[in-house]
Amino acid sequence: MELTTGASSSRASRIQSRIGVLGGTFDPIHNGHVAIATAAFNVLELTSVLFVPAARPWMKEFGTGPGVTSVKHRIEMVKLATESREGFDLSTLDTDLGGLSYSVDTISELREQYGHATELMLILGADALEELPRWREPERLLSMCTLVCIGRPGSGLPENLPDGHPGRDAEFVSGPMLQVNATEIRARIAAGLSVEGMVNASVGAYIEREGLYQEYGSDDEKRH
Ligand code: ATP
Repeated sequence: MELTTGASSSRASRIQSRIGVLGGTFDPIHNGHVAIATAAFNVLELTSVLFVPAARPWMKEFGTGPGVTSVKHRIEMVKLATESREGFDLSTLDTDLGGLSYSVDTISELREQYGHATELMLILGADALEELPRWREPERLLSMCTLVCIGRPGSGLPENLPDGHPGRDAEFVSGPMLQVNATEIRARIAAGLSVEGMVNASVGAYIEREGLYQEYGSDDEKRH
């Protein structure tokens, strides 16, 4: 298969496959994650989407809350949410490496693995795109992949980012704009409320069986 859109014409002629990369804490993986991966997969005609759980997300290292849920549980939930979806794959690259997870390291490793006939498309919610200047080596990151921004309620379009912002040229895919986020899911579970419709049914059953997020309370925000 020869892909011809989404990259400059000389590069596009060499691109054989196009892989979406969705990194995240996935604490837990929810329907917003699956929706943005689905939108990118369909609109950009991706070969596959890799879900890459972070070992220790650098931007969630601070605070006095209960901390990020163990890698084992987060990986299991990603498996449950993606296993029946053709083209969706789990990557344990970051969690195998351990330590703090930075997208530039993840993409650099994937670039080595896949070579230059594969275009790597880093999928970000619009909130994450805004934070890009704070990330490690954003320019090097952009030299190795194409950024794809999916709309998120409360966040603007890439073209509205300030001049010089490294995310301004991201490809924009208008997503389904689901309000769901993991912080709210943890808070609802701690409060004994249902999260039906916010997470995949088998992820919901797993959370219940393992007793996850019971102690997440009002101080959950301090994790950020
Ligand atoms: P938390 O509430 O714990 O901060 P989160 O719901 O934002 O978590 P993450 O795992 O941190 O989930 O997000 C991974 C990626 O998915 C980020 O790029 C984020 O912008 C994106 N994302 C998550 N939820 C949505 C959503 N509802 N719409 C668009 N993008 C989303």
